[in-house]
Amino acid sequence: MICVACTTEPSSVLRRSSLPAQSAEGFTGRLEQSHSLEFVDGFAEMELDLPSDALSLLVEVEGDFDGEYLIHQLVGPQGALVVDHPESDMAEASQLGAAAGPFFSANRSVAARGGTTLLVPNDPYLVMSGGTYHLGIRSTLRRTHRVQLKTWVQTGTAYPQRCQLSVHIHRPTPLADDADIDDRILAAMTEMESIYEQAGIEVSLQGLHQQDQLDSELPNPAVDLEPYRNAFVAGRDGLNLYVVDSIGDEEPPLGGFASAIPLSARANGLFSGVVVALGFSDPGQENDLLGYTMAHESAHGLGLFHVQEFTGWEDPLTDTHPDKGNNLLGVLARHQDRNVSASQALVMRTHPLCRSPGLGD
Ligand SMILES: [Zn+2]
Repeated sequence: MICVACTTEPSSVLRRSSLPAQSAEGFTGRLEQSHSLEFVDGFAEMELDLPSDALSLLVEVEGDFDGEYLIHQLVGPQGALVVDHPESDMAEASQLGAAAGPFFSANRSVAARGGTTLLVPNDPYLVMSGGTYHLGIRSTLRRTHRVQLKTWVQTGTAYPQRCQLSVHIHRPTPLADDADIDDRILAAMTEMESIYEQAGIEVSLQGLHQQDQLDSELPNPAVDLEPYRNAFVAGRDGLNLYVVDSIGDEEPPLGGFASAIPLSARANGLFSGVVVALGFSDPGQENDLLGYTMAHESAHGLGLFHVQEFTGWEDPLTDTHPDKGNNLLGVLARHQDRNVSASQALVMRTHPLCRSPGLGD
């Protein structure tokens, strides 16, 4: 790839000076691969060979449920760092321990329980190219064990200006019989569609499903993930949204939960669901936050972080600012906060769950 106006920073991160080329057709090819990988003493590594026209990479690691996993290193061709441990004061002060570096690296990476995921690039100013990548993963489990690693690589000559997001909505049996609740869900979907439209994402509802394995009241996912894992087996091709009464019993209540940043592109794994709670907001049309919450949590699922976390850390995307633009990814965002920046929109359209027109049917 010829890199025009790229700058090489001391860490050898390749950054562009403007957003990458985009076209109506976007990605034109998509490759899926599976690998089996062995962990020894909490570490595993492998080489990934990406085709010369690779523009995006999604990785999913499916590990043991009792461990945490983190992609802590991804080094691209010519030694270009993508995910690494930059030594910064922010990382030092974050108290994230071993997980701090990748959270603050050029392409952000976060740890998760039972496995992990990574979207590259999750900053469109980072240059992605084909070639051999070195991937390093760590786990809190010290025992020797094997995990499954899946990759989705999208190829082409330009990023997509638009894409299509198929959505499946699942609700537990007691809620599935309530016509008022379905009306509320459909109104929320309409709101999410309009929020995503301005990001170049055409949302289409594929179906409302009844899920017997889904409880109406789910525990806080930080305490117990098992019910989520059981519910997500019902996932279908596309983005799977699970609507329940409540998530945990804290005050203030939790509005929603994305099972990973980013979600897997697989239909039915631990990282394949977004959950939203009806009890979080008022069903009166004017104040209902359900559609907003669906849009916010799904945006996490498509790879976006908060513009600014409670701790003060800011999203490194150059065009997101905590105090500007009524951003959908504000940590305390509400109704009026419906906007995403050009970089955020492009990250969302880079996720393989959003299908480029160039990929056909
Ligand atoms: Zn959030």
